[in-house]
Order: sequence, then structure tokens, then C-alpha cells
Amino acid sequence: MTTLFWLQTAACGGDTLALLSATCPSVEQLLSSMGVELLWHPSLSYHATRHRDETMVRIIHGELHLGILCVEGSIVTAPHGTGLHDTCNGRAKLDVVRDLAEHADLVVAVGTCAAFGGMPAAQPNAGGCIGLQFDHDRPGGLFSADWRSRGGLPVINISGCPAHPHAITQTLAWLAAGAPLVLDELNRPTSHFSRIVHQGCTRNEYHEYNIEDTCSGDRACLFFNLGCQGPLTRGMCNSDLWNGASSKTRVGVPCFGCTSPDFPRDGDLLCTEKLGEVPLHLPLGVERARYMAYKNLARAAAPERVRNKKMEP
Ligand code: SF4
Repeated sequence: MTTLFWLQTAACGGDTLALLSATCPSVEQLLSSMGVELLWHPSLSYHATRHRDETMVRIIHGELHLGILCVEGSIVTAPHGTGLHDTCNGRAKLDVVRDLAEHADLVVAVGTCAAFGGMPAAQPNAGGCIGLQFDHDRPGGLFSADWRSRGGLPVINISGCPAHPHAITQTLAWLAAGAPLVLDELNRPTSHFSRIVHQGCTRNEYHEYNIEDTCSGDRACLFFNLGCQGPLTRGMCNSDLWNGASSKTRVGVPCFGCTSPDFPRDGDLLCTEKLGEVPLHLPLGVERARYMAYKNLARAAAPERVRNKKMEP
């Protein structure tokens, strides 16, 4: 059995909504049979916030063991590094997070805001927002790059805007079971961040044959013109569908790359930035020199079935 305390900082609550939609395991399963005891969650706990405050005091005084600290939201450092633009009972939340993290076996950043800064850290970033252990892709946020929790791990980043429901609950179940976790270079569990969003997309065949949409509402690939980040983004949206049913690209919305440290990128999210005729950012690992040759050949080889499908109503 491990204890879990969930704190929201500069957040919209989207990761909590994602958490509630998890089914494998669900929050109920996590709490009833997977060894997680919830000390506090702002939406799930029925106690008054006084209970939250008392719980925090007991943790910080060493009277209550904290297994996992989950932080949802960006860390506000304004004004002037004090963090007083986001407070809890008059204390800057950045100090509250620091105190709790020092007493937690493991610290989990839930969502891109907590992991890398996310939406609140977009330019002009008036709140001076940062992630727990990263500032975008730069190591070092609220905690330095070499900070480790009592359990010997850096902050575990479950990025996403919001984080994928099963990336949250499966990682928490894994941690509660005491299983070892392998992290990537951005401290995300490789179990959930090894695939790219492009894998499993139903528009994949169009991508292979270079049949690309130029306006929304059609059925071909969204990479070349409409800003899709699927081939560049590590995530499970098309391999473990949201609500077991869908994903952005399945309903015609390009992947915005929300698990990436540079999310939200500057510029038009619905438009592909190009160098001449070629996308500025190519699929992960693809060589620019060979890319257009491949694309042109692929288009010439596209079967009627693929060409015509795009024109079907
Ligand atoms: S729409 Fe995006 S994710 Fe789907 S095939 Fe095209 S590039 Fe890949």
C-alpha cells in the first residue's frame, strides 16, 4: 500500500478529467485493489480543504508517510521568483511543492504543464511558469536536473495536454507495485512514450503514398499542410484510443504535439511550417535529402483505391 497526495498548481484541471476517464485501470480500481491510498485530491476528496492542510502539515512533520506526490499544473515563479502569484493559504505553491516533494518517495508531474511548463509557459509567460524538473526541454525547473526523490528517481514526467488517462493510472499502478520504471531522456516512462502518435493513425496509408489534405474535413494525411505532429510526437493517442473510441487524427484534427516539451509551439497549430516545399520538421529519424525523393515516388505509386478514397464524400 502506498499513499498518494495530488496537488494542483497552475492548471486547468484537464489532467484530473483525463484521470477520471481511465478504465484500464480506472481510478476506482487503483484505489480499491491496486494498493493506492488517496490522502488528498482536490476533486475526489470529500473532506474540506482544512483536511488537506492538516495532511500536508503531518507529511512535512514526518508524521504521515507520503508515497507518491502528483503535481498537476505549471509552477508559477512570478513575481520575481517568489511564486506569490499562485498561493495556498498565503504560501507560494512552489514552496509547498518543494516541501512535499522532499518528503515523498516519488514525485510525478502529471501533464505537460507540470512536466515542462506547458500552456502557462507559452510566450510571453507572464507568470514565469516552469515545469517541476524541466523548463521546456532544458533540464532544471523548480528542481535542479540532479534532484532525486527519496525513492532515488527524478520527477517522473507523464506529459500530455492532458496526459493520456492510461499513462497516468498505469504508471501509478506500476509505482504502487514497486516495479522498476525505465525513463526516457525527458524522464517519461518508456512504457508509454516509446511509440509515436503516427503509429496506429487511420490516415497512415495516405501518409505513405503522399496523399495529403490541404483543408480540414477531408480524409487524407494532415502532416504536409495542416500541421500534424504525429510523426514527431511520442505518445499513445492512436494506439490506446481516448475513451476507447477515438483520437484527434481520427476526427480530422492534427496532432498538436502536446506531449512534447515545446508544446504549445509558436505559430499556427493548424499549418505546417515549411522550408520551400518541404516541411521544416520531418518525421523522427528521417533524412531530409531522401525525403522528397521518397515522397514523389510514393505519390506516383499510389493505388487508385487510395487516390479515390480521398475524393469520396
Ligand atoms: S494525420 Fe498525422 S498521425 Fe495521421 S498519418 Fe498523417 S501525419 Fe501520421
